[in-house]
Amino acid sequence: MDNDEEEEKGKRRKGRVVVRRGRVRKPPNRTTTITTETTTTTTTTKNKNKTSIVGLGGDIEDFSDELILKKIRDSLLQWYDQNQRVLPWRRRRSKTTDADEDEEEDEKETSRRAYAVWVSEVMLQQTRVSTVIDYYNRWMEKWPTLHHLAQATQEEVNEMWAGLGYYRRARFLLEGAKMVVEGGGEFPRTVPALRKVRGIGDYTAGAIASIAFNEAVPVVDGNVVRVIARLKAISANTKESETIKNLWKLAGQLVDPHRPGDMNQSLMELGAIICTPTSPSCSACPISEQCHAFSLSRNSQRVQVTDYPVKVVKPKQRHDFCAVCVVEILEDQKATCSSRNNGFLLVKRPDEGLLAGLWEFPSVLLDGEADLAMRRKATDQFLKKSFNLDTDSCGIILREDVGECVHIFTHIRLRMYVELLILNPKGGSKILSGKEEKDTIAWKCVDNKSIQDMGLTSGVRKVYNMIQQFKEKSLPENPRSRKRKKKL
Ligand code: SF4
Repeated sequence: MDNDEEEEKGKRRKGRVVVRRGRVRKPPNRTTTITTETTTTTTTTKNKNKTSIVGLGGDIEDFSDELILKKIRDSLLQWYDQNQRVLPWRRRRSKTTDADEDEEEDEKETSRRAYAVWVSEVMLQQTRVSTVIDYYNRWMEKWPTLHHLAQATQEEVNEMWAGLGYYRRARFLLEGAKMVVEGGGEFPRTVPALRKVRGIGDYTAGAIASIAFNEAVPVVDGNVVRVIARLKAISANTKESETIKNLWKLAGQLVDPHRPGDMNQSLMELGAIICTPTSPSCSACPISEQCHAFSLSRNSQRVQVTDYPVKVVKPKQRHDFCAVCVVEILEDQKATCSSRNNGFLLVKRPDEGLLAGLWEFPSVLLDGEADLAMRRKATDQFLKKSFNLDTDSCGIILREDVGECVHIFTHIRLRMYVELLILNPKGGSKILSGKEEKDTIAWKCVDNKSIQDMGLTSGVRKVYNMIQQFKEKSLPENPRSRKRKKKL
């Protein structure tokens, strides 16, 4: 039995319709009427004791009927005009009364809008609108134009981005801005020109070109995939490249030549607030009359619009484990662990890979689950190798296992074992020395106040909060006075 068959059996047991590539399947001996936009077709194919209904799915049909296409566009645009959410990146400046001034202003406004679309669309990838609004407003306050952004440092951009996740996006935004400014400063206006900018892919290029420059090109994001998959009752796997290609083609056919940007936004907006993943409001949907999934669901109780797009089994998450050691250094001999100028050791991650170029507490990736002794051994080796820091002879005030926490990335489940190491070496943080090799790691010591103001990734913030809670609960004012020095 192959996996497909297993999946089909599993779903049948639950009495649900199985929507598979190229077919809409039903339990045996049933005949279902499928209404297409132009015809009504009843097709049954006998296969042993199964009856399959064909006619939709594998061969994804174009939007070939101009009248229906017009109806969809008009309905969506009208709905969008009345229902779009007020969002900061949709704000437009009001026009002046002077025609010359207007022309100049129009040009500036277009570039401003292109930049706004770019920043907002990048932030919105994998992130909720409600989260993005504050980030977007802060970003625009600091870097109101592309030229302002191009002057920023990677460090500043990372700090501004902290907590949004997928930090590569921030890096690409900065690199892209620098690239455009170095190339003369004029914002590229077409999809092919935009695609040449670092970090701008098909989706962002389509959004900028259609929304800011009125180019009649499509945009396909998760919301658009869902709406079109339901609109056309597509039973092919929407994660497969061939289907994705077809979805772009269909989205291209839907684009209104006069209002491409609004049309694209109306599709995305519909997916975000009406045609939602689990509870679509079909009764309030402006295109329900043209929706195949809705039509199928009305004809059979066994079909639900949420059967589209077809659910695909996600690849398993990888499980990673790491030992995180929060090293706090008391800067002078009178300091206590609550002294303000104690330094926390932070290490910069490599410029490539996960969380590239971001700051974190010293961490060592482990082969798997590990007990405290193994973790300490790995940590000690790392501190010795990277900072020439010998934990046996650098005035340990406290070394405590604080606990563990899990941080989830899209494809990785990272379990972090967190340890607090408070040191009071002679000379304070000056005893740290980076290895003088080609691959020297970047590090810094920051005080409590600075670390709180820094833009930390949510994983690092989680660890920092654990440490603070531990200190509040478990540490006396001055650990040295109560001789809490731990034996290792
Ligand atoms: S009718 Fe329902 S399923 Fe179809 S597009 Fe509208 S909300 Fe989505």
